[in-house]
Amino acid sequence: MLKGKPLVAVSACLLGQAVRYDGLAKYTSLIAEELSKYCQLLAVCPELEIGLGVPRAKIQLTQVGQTIRVLQQHNPHIDVTNELVAFAKQFYEQQPLAGLVLQDRSPSCGMGNTDLYSQQGKVIGLGSGLFAATMLELNPALVIIQASQLQSKQDVAIFFKKMTFCSLNL
Ligand code: SF4
Repeated sequence: MLKGKPLVAVSACLLGQAVRYDGLAKYTSLIAEELSKYCQLLAVCPELEIGLGVPRAKIQLTQVGQTIRVLQQHNPHIDVTNELVAFAKQFYEQQPLAGLVLQDRSPSCGMGNTDLYSQQGKVIGLGSGLFAATMLELNPALVIIQASQLQSKQDVAIFFKKMTFCSLNL
């Protein structure tokens, strides 16, 4: 790790850690190899951090009245919303982050592209994962992107420049 590189939290599954609910990873070489030239990468899996195991039962965004909760898909009595929010706050306070690269469509890491379910189990829209949403709420200036937004070396360079620009203007 070189000194002076901005610290970027990355969904651990994107860095090859087998932490997904199904016990698999989602290794993305552009992030693990190209982005690491510019930034210090810090792997984080919010679901693992709040004590959910691997493999684990699926959780999902669920509209409950006026609020969005993160409930276990087949046992909606299990609600991990508060744990995810608390972990995000703790993580934000402990890490001097310049940005985050998070996995799409996850109830923890997704940004506006995660299925939102009704309590009857129907998809009724899209929302953001609770970890991602909380990080953004804590610091709206934080540069957060989804893995799908990094498709080329040029995308990586643009992300890096954006982070550098934002940190200069803080
Ligand atoms: S919670 Fe985030 S880091 Fe963990 S497996 Fe799901 S998408 Fe990957």
